Amino acid sequence: MRYPFDGSYPVTQKFGANPTYYKQFGFDGHEGEDFGTPNGVKILACAKGKVVRRNDVKDGAYGIYVVVWHEELLLATWYCHLQSNVVSIGDTVTEGQLIAYSDNTGNTTGPHLHLNLCQTDKNGYRINQDNGYKGFIDPAPYLSTSNPQNELEQCKIEREQNRLDRDKNWNLHLSDQEQIKELQKQLEGVKKENKELWDAIKKFAADLGVSPSTEIIGGEIVKLINMEDEHDRLVRAIADKDEAISKLQDENKTLEASNQQNLVDKKDAEDRLKSCTTGSDTLKTTITELSNKLEKINGTLDTLPASTLLGLLIKKIAFWERSDT
Ligand SMILES: [Zn+2]
Repeated sequence: MRYPFDGSYPVTQKFGANPTYYKQFGFDGHEGEDFGTPNGVKILACAKGKVVRRNDVKDGAYGIYVVVWHEELLLATWYCHLQSNVVSIGDTVTEGQLIAYSDNTGNTTGPHLHLNLCQTDKNGYRINQDNGYKGFIDPAPYLSTSNPQNELEQCKIEREQNRLDRDKNWNLHLSDQEQIKELQKQLEGVKKENKELWDAIKKFAADLGVSPSTEIIGGEIVKLINMEDEHDRLVRAIADKDEAISKLQDENKTLEASNQQNLVDKKDAEDRLKSCTTGSDTLKTTITELSNKLEKINGTLDTLPASTLLGLLIKKIAFWERSDT
């Protein structure tokens, strides 16, 4: 059960205190626990339960008070000397629910909360009424700042979380085992490869005619690696040469084509030269013939009289005129 208020108020009178004073009321001592609450403090239900009694008259011993029966716990709590109740008989209340405000109504010497606790039967009736306190018992051992219900819930949550964690760990464990199996398989594979490699090395050593000692095989392997490097280097050099040759061949092709064209051009030029030479010879002959004719004409002209020349000229003019028509 929780305290009937938030915060902390001093206990001003413990259960069982002042037996002489309480003898007049038929008690062996103070029948409840007093807390030094000022007026107007919110009074809260100590546990979930049902409101079974409510008194709103100020002048009784307890003044205004309210009683909550906690059926599951077979306990009832009484909250006394109140200012006002805020719940009704038959109301169901949760733990910590506001049920009243504190004050100093009833038989008091100042503002405080008087809390009673009693055990009940399953019908809610107070039992052990002959215990010297009319069935009331000390509330102090029942009060806790923590909330048992919440603690129970918390425990449930923690238990569920633990279960989930356990499942998770178990799955992780399974997963780890799977991984281990897988790694073992890989390891077996590597071992097998190593053995094969070692067998190959031994065979290689046998082929080389050397004993398969690590140093000798190591040396041979280094040589082999160097040879492979040299081989690679040569392959690269050959490829470079091939490339250069290919380039030269291309250049040759271009030059060859150019040469062919030059031959054609040359033939063409020769033909033209030949043609020119022939033309020149023909012209020379024609010129010679014309020169001869001219000389002959000149000789004839020198022997003709002027009248004949004039006659010829007239004839020529007449010929031109006919030609014009
Ligand atoms: Zn009291």
